[in-house]
Amino acid sequence: MRRAYNKGHWERARSHAFKIIHRPKEQELARSVMIRSFWNEENFHEVIRLNSLWGNAFQKLSELAVYSLNEQIPGNEKVHHPKILELHESQPMPKGLDLKWNSHDTSMNFLQEGNRLWMVHPHGWTYWDMPNDFLLATTHHDLLRLTAEILLYPWQKSTRTSLEGTRKLGTLPSLAFSAGTDSTAAALVMPEHTILGYHRRNFESILDHRNADRLLAFMTNEKAKTVVDISSNHELIRTYHFKQIGFSSDFACATHLILLADHFDIGAIAFGMPLDNTWLVKGRKFRQFQETPYFQYWKERFLKAGLDLLLPIAGISEAGAMEICQKEKVLPYLNSCLRGDGTNGCGDCWKCFLKNGPLGRPFDINGKEIQIFLKRRPLPTATHALWALQHLQLESKVPELSEYLEQDLSWWTCYYPPAKNILQERWQEETWNNISNYLSPMKQPYPVESVHYFGD
Ligand SMILES: [Zn+2]
Repeated sequence: MRRAYNKGHWERARSHAFKIIHRPKEQELARSVMIRSFWNEENFHEVIRLNSLWGNAFQKLSELAVYSLNEQIPGNEKVHHPKILELHESQPMPKGLDLKWNSHDTSMNFLQEGNRLWMVHPHGWTYWDMPNDFLLATTHHDLLRLTAEILLYPWQKSTRTSLEGTRKLGTLPSLAFSAGTDSTAAALVMPEHTILGYHRRNFESILDHRNADRLLAFMTNEKAKTVVDISSNHELIRTYHFKQIGFSSDFACATHLILLADHFDIGAIAFGMPLDNTWLVKGRKFRQFQETPYFQYWKERFLKAGLDLLLPIAGISEAGAMEICQKEKVLPYLNSCLRGDGTNGCGDCWKCFLKNGPLGRPFDINGKEIQIFLKRRPLPTATHALWALQHLQLESKVPELSEYLEQDLSWWTCYYPPAKNILQERWQEETWNNISNYLSPMKQPYPVESVHYFGD
């Protein structure tokens, strides 16, 4: 029975199980084999039936079956995955005070209990654990409104309200620090007194903070950076709208810094957004980024709240960011692979190819996921992927991409000089000096400006 089950011969495993299921000693195992084999065959009706027949002994599996059945039927009302429901139910709520969601003035949706800052939203509560001397009462209302907009706008259009515009620009620069390659490169090129704000997801998930913790210690001790480490559960907001756990929008990774702007006198919030997502769309088509409605809107919006929206590595590709990290010997603390052991990559995923491969770390170009992605059109993260293939001299492995690999892509690690113009004057000189100490400029005509792969 076990052998058949482990080999994936579900029917055979069940017929073995059926022969012993009446023996009291074997019953539990036999039932488990039967119900799980139906699960593996995606026979969800049978899973539900057997669970109720056997006194709800397989409650979790049955709940998953109900969820999966519902997902299969198009047009069915969506239900939450049992794990997400469990997370929703286990989140804390304010103990004393209460608030109802206010869609007219979103700054009225916040309250403080001890060092915990709460925000009510249409589906519940979210919170940040702030430094002990943080005070909501002395936090400008525009900072609260900007936070609500960033976290809720995708679903609550009313959060895009007018701002007072009375907060004076603060004096210190800060960076939404994710402990990844791009934001580490941003930290290294930014002014010396930049505050690094780490957002810590504080509920159980597959995310592993160990590498990040070692990097935070390194940046504090070896690079003399001020690190502010704030826990929050706001990545759950999306899940109320049947999206995966994660940030509501691009700038959600900085809401802790926005909320702390008055506390620390912050005047700029930076993001490690690389060239791949600024002057390039999805890493494969050039655009005039500084003219996009996206950049124009958010730059003005942050400024209205007394904050410069700062994109220090907007002119640097992921490959350039990797080179900066390499030069500063930060690489031992960085690994983009989500399937590794927290230190080493798995060697088989797309990230291992893109990010670990060019650093000389082991990966298998024939790995299943890497092959699937290489055959996908448009090629994901195109310019970087093509550069990596060329850099690793793997052109012969992908003859179907030969037309894109004829040109020399070594410019991909150089910085794009026009990107200097989007940096606000007070941060410009120091940041740009640092960048030009690490990398060389692209030569004119800038090759990135003619990037347009795989059509639209
Ligand atoms: Zn990997």
